[in-house]
Amino acid sequence: MAVSGVVTMSEIHLDSVSKRYGETTALVDVDLDVADGDFFTLVGPSGCGKTTTLRLVAGFESPTDGRVRFDDEEMAKVPPEARGVGVVFQNYALFPHMSVAENVGYGLRFTDPPEGESRSERVDQLLDLVDLGGMGDREPNQLSGGQQQRVALARALAPSPRLLLLDEPMSALDAQLRERLRMQIKEIQSELDITTLYVTHDQEEALAVSDRVAVMRDGRVEQVGTPRDIYRRPETRFVAEFVGDNNLFEGTMRELSVSADETKGYLVDVDSEEFRVAGDGRSEGLAVGDTVTFCVRPEQLRVGDGENRFTATVEGSEFLGETTRVHLDWKGRSVTLRTTDVPSGAVELGFDADDAWRVS
Ligand code: ATP
Repeated sequence: MAVSGVVTMSEIHLDSVSKRYGETTALVDVDLDVADGDFFTLVGPSGCGKTTTLRLVAGFESPTDGRVRFDDEEMAKVPPEARGVGVVFQNYALFPHMSVAENVGYGLRFTDPPEGESRSERVDQLLDLVDLGGMGDREPNQLSGGQQQRVALARALAPSPRLLLLDEPMSALDAQLRERLRMQIKEIQSELDITTLYVTHDQEEALAVSDRVAVMRDGRVEQVGTPRDIYRRPETRFVAEFVGDNNLFEGTMRELSVSADETKGYLVDVDSEEFRVAGDGRSEGLAVGDTVTFCVRPEQLRVGDGENRFTATVEGSEFLGETTRVHLDWKGRSVTLRTTDVPSGAVELGFDADDAWRVS
């Protein structure tokens, strides 16, 4: 159901933003550009600066250096309540003594409902939007955790904010509920076409819901890209390791890719076996003889197939339901394969150059 009220679309920009708390540096020279209507996720390990970034956008904190802009508007002097942002935190923070409808209505305290609409109609619309139609009279403690978070979402969306900021909104929920709720959040976000900044430490969640993802580490942005790029084309070892299972091969550069269009890949020698690796347009500064590392995701390895081949020995496996994770040894290195047909003994594995990506 459509919710009336104009949602002003908005871009978010962080220009060289740093944030220090006394001796602690939370963010270092962060540049971020979130496009209109994007579902943009900040992901990274605990303490990497995700929440600080979100709080700077919300206006709860000010940058030590650099600036935050919404579209072309510098936000330094704009207080949180005037920024037009809706925020949902990890702990639902609903008022326990208010009904669900009153909680959502609270989000409307500074705004009039759209022309020709009563406040209670607006609340009903919002409850329908989050799939809680008819539950307005309940108290928060009569709802499940997932339902409470949807009330918090409806409350945040009530004043038609230009941006939606979500800080680990599902971390208190169990795995099944999280999966369901994240799809609901994604649906609501695309229905409203509202620019959304989402914080999570869960890489799978980040890949599942986002249009674009920024992987953060130690107060810096390590890589920004689509979920597919972040997963298949990680630029650094950290991103490769943080986002999913991986195989990292370290070797010596034998031949350099010089074309940015990736028609010509690298040739890398790993323990006297030569492997073709996708060209990535990042070969500047690299030289033949350099030590390089590339990543191949376990499901990109195939038994007896692929441009690059090597023979490894199966050491064990873990049944995961849809697939099995097979652990192998290749010249003293561990290699992981994801497959549905579990091999045994010595197996020839292969992968295509396009499925191998150099990390730095
Ligand atoms: P988590 O996933 O654990 O919530 P995060 O990635 O959101 O982590 P932040 O909360 O942004 O990380 O914290 C980044 C760094 O800044 C951490 O070292 C943290 O201890 C520090 N920090 C954050 N807020 C403050 C504060 N108010 N005072 C002092 N240090 C702070």
